[in-house]
This record gives sequence, structure tokens and C-alpha cells, in this order.
Amino acid sequence: MGYCKGVSKALEMAEAAIEQAHNENRRVYSLGKVIHNNEICNYLSNAGMQVIGEAQGHEPGLVVLRAHGIPDAVRSSFIDAGYELVDATCPVVRFNLANIATYAKTHSIVIVGHSGHPETAAMQGVQIDGEICPTTLITSLDEVIPPSEPSSVAVFVQTTFDQGLWNMIKEKIQGWTALGSEVLFVNEICPSSINRRNAALELAGQCDAVLVIGGRESANTRALCKLILENGTKAWHIENETEITEDMRNCDILGITAGASTPPTAIQRVIDALQQE
Ligand code: SF4
Repeated sequence: MGYCKGVSKALEMAEAAIEQAHNENRRVYSLGKVIHNNEICNYLSNAGMQVIGEAQGHEPGLVVLRAHGIPDAVRSSFIDAGYELVDATCPVVRFNLANIATYAKTHSIVIVGHSGHPETAAMQGVQIDGEICPTTLITSLDEVIPPSEPSSVAVFVQTTFDQGLWNMIKEKIQGWTALGSEVLFVNEICPSSINRRNAALELAGQCDAVLVIGGRESANTRALCKLILENGTKAWHIENETEITEDMRNCDILGITAGASTPPTAIQRVIDALQQE
């Protein structure tokens, strides 16, 4: 449970950027929240990092690009406006974005992801020579519609997409080969996500109920909680120890897990609070 490598690295880079900005007397920003966790966001904000949504309207300084990556046009807008980029895009995500640009020259690009998720937006915003690569977004099984004529298709999936849904979508897309298309699945869901989900299910199998700790905005925390509920174990999604209830305390065996953006300190505080009489 807890931070994946991409999130850990992004936080390290954010802290280093704050220090650099402080030493050089410059402004420091993050493009969107570095992670979906209020405690960490408040900490970064108190240390001087301002969350912004675009390059315009702010004095240029250092800007941290979070682990999910960003569309190329947004990246260019910051460079053109004179910001120094601190690129915390997770290497796994960066590799996928580079592959979209490569495969777009020879294949139709299909992206399987959640509409509006920053990583999906980054994948939809890959450019070649200043032009956006055409892509088709699939968010659900219903949206898997074969190409109008046989073609070569390269399929990418958001690294934190739901594994069960991905398996079903993948199987349906694979069916396009029977219609004459060539289908290439370029990447898979990140093992970090898969490991956390498998661990949560294993834990759920041994407990009466599970507490899933993480920010309300954290999609992967919400997905973990949903997964446990769908598998028939009681589960609660809480952000911090103030949300602990008597129901939770009254479980014989209570499991604890956390999303990929939940700080270890937040997890420990919940454990400490539960262990108090
Ligand atoms: S889930 Fe995987 S791909 Fe996504 S940020 Fe974490 S390590 Fe990187």
C-alpha cells in the first residue's frame, strides 16, 4: 500500500524544486496538485509551492509537472512563457507518451482510460511536429467499436486503469483481428497498481472489513475501496483518523490499506488512533 515509485519521485522533485526556488529567490509552482492528498498539498503550499492551472497570469518560475504527464501543448506554453520545467512525469508514463508519438506514424492510436484523467489527457495531447496525434479514447466496453475498415491499431492503456475492465476491453479489441485489423497492445496497467489491488483483495479475504486511507480526489484510492466492496467485504474510504467511527473500531479483524498517493504518516496516524482505547 501507499506511495508508488512515480509518486515518491514526484514528491522528492517537488521538495527539491521548493528548495531551489527558495535559494534562488524565485517563484515555484505545480501544474495541478502534485498528488491527490490534502495533507501533502497543504505542506507543499506552506513551503511556498503554488498550484496553478496554466502558464498565463503568474510570474514565471520553476514549475513541477506531476507524475501523470501533461499534453505537449501545455508543456510548450510553459516553456514559451519562460518557466523552468521540473518534469516529474513518471518514467513509465513518459515511455508510453514517447511510444504514442512513434506508433502514430504507422498505426491508428487507441487510448483506453478515464476521460479527463490527467494521464489520459497527456496521452491525448501527444504531438508530432506541433500537430496533435489523432487518437480514439475508449472509456467503457460499449465504446469498443471496430475500425470502419481493417487497419493497424496500437492500443495504450492508462497505467492506473481498472484491471477487470481493461481485461474485458482488451479481449473485445482483440476481436478486431478477426475482421482483418492488426492490433498491438503497447503497454499494460502499471504493476504498482496491480500489486496494490491484489494485496487489497488478499487482505480483504482475511478481514471482516477494510479501511482504505486516501484523499477523496484520489481515483486509485476510490478504486481500491470499490474493488473490496465488489468482492463482498465491508470497506470504508477515509482521509484521516478523524473519520474513524465506532463501527470501524468494533470489527474483530480490521484490515488497513491505502492509495498510491497516501503518505505513510497519514497511515500511521490512523493505526495509532485505532490502537488507542
Ligand atoms: S502507478 Fe505506476 S505508472 Fe503511475 S505514477 Fe505510479 S509508478 Fe508511475
